[in-house]
Amino acid sequence: MNIENLARQAVRDLAPYASAGRLKAIGEISLNANEWPTPPSFLKDAASLNRYPPFQDSSLLTIYGTYAGVESTQILTCRGADEAIDLLLRSFCEAGQDAIITCPPTYGMYEISAQISGVECRKIPMTPNWDIDLNALEKNLANVKIVFLCNPNNPTGQALDSKTLESMLEITKDRALLVIDESYGEFCPAISCIPRLQANPHLVILRTLSKAFGLAGIRCGFALANPSIITLLRKIIAPYPVPTPSLAIACRALTPENIAHMQENVALCARERNRLADGLMKCPQIDTVYPSVTNFLLFRAKDSHTLWNALVNRGILLRDQSTGYRLENCLRVSIGTPDENARLLAVLKELANA
Ligand SMILES: *Cc1c(COP(=O)(O)O)cnc(C)c1O
Repeated sequence: MNIENLARQAVRDLAPYASAGRLKAIGEISLNANEWPTPPSFLKDAASLNRYPPFQDSSLLTIYGTYAGVESTQILTCRGADEAIDLLLRSFCEAGQDAIITCPPTYGMYEISAQISGVECRKIPMTPNWDIDLNALEKNLANVKIVFLCNPNNPTGQALDSKTLESMLEITKDRALLVIDESYGEFCPAISCIPRLQANPHLVILRTLSKAFGLAGIRCGFALANPSIITLLRKIIAPYPVPTPSLAIACRALTPENIAHMQENVALCARERNRLADGLMKCPQIDTVYPSVTNFLLFRAKDSHTLWNALVNRGILLRDQSTGYRLENCLRVSIGTPDENARLLAVLKELANA
């Protein structure tokens, strides 16, 4: 099956906006984009900021391709993984007609993007062990254009096994896109589906610099997929999606030296996470701490509302997950600095003794 046939007719027919940035800079004198000819005087160091950024920065595509092990033609650079979710919805799903599938409890933006686009979000809850319900999923694929999986999953912190991923690829083959959100992929590189891209034209993988790379503020993420999907997404993304300073910082983050540094940080984070998990398990306010391969922990408290409020009153903010599917009394805590984690445990101890 030609995977493009899953896309919306309007997007398949679309001739993308021919922005000045899509044309290669040919002349030395660029008078084609209504830019100001010089940068503001307070920005003497950032010489090119009077110019629009490239549509897709070729050096970043090359560097990220080397890091991820894919070709430049398999990459879309966008404003975070969140933008990729929205672009996929708008490229493949017809409002009032098509549907997506999500497997709660999971990341909330898949459903919100679907709601914004007027697309049905069909929920196939995970089993009590937080495995994918493959049978239910397969039976509910009518009208479905995209299945979103998050691996490792936010907010549960666990990773799907490779047999499940293999089955998911089989079930969705020739029927729908399988989008695997690997925003936490750096914390668990062994489970990445990037090696499966070549054999699966319907597979899309989302990555970001917002989590392990510590660059949430620059808004830089990537969709990895076969070139015909990337071509469709490039048709509808904004003409100048990622700002020049973000592109420059992204390129620096991906030098071999800085990748090695990121990997050291990930190892430290895993040690902190395990220490924090041990500490949380000893807290009388907490029933269960779920295993995690990420930079956060999900735990079930005896009374999450009381605990969340008591922590806020002590200046510590956790994420309330208690309204999520089967997440009654659950809170999510991001792994902080060793000092921040120690402070959290100390405050929990004080509260327990109060
Ligand atoms: C944080 C997060 C994102 C958003 O990442 P950005 O690249 O910052 O947009 C996407 N998916 C999941 C699962 C996340 O946790």
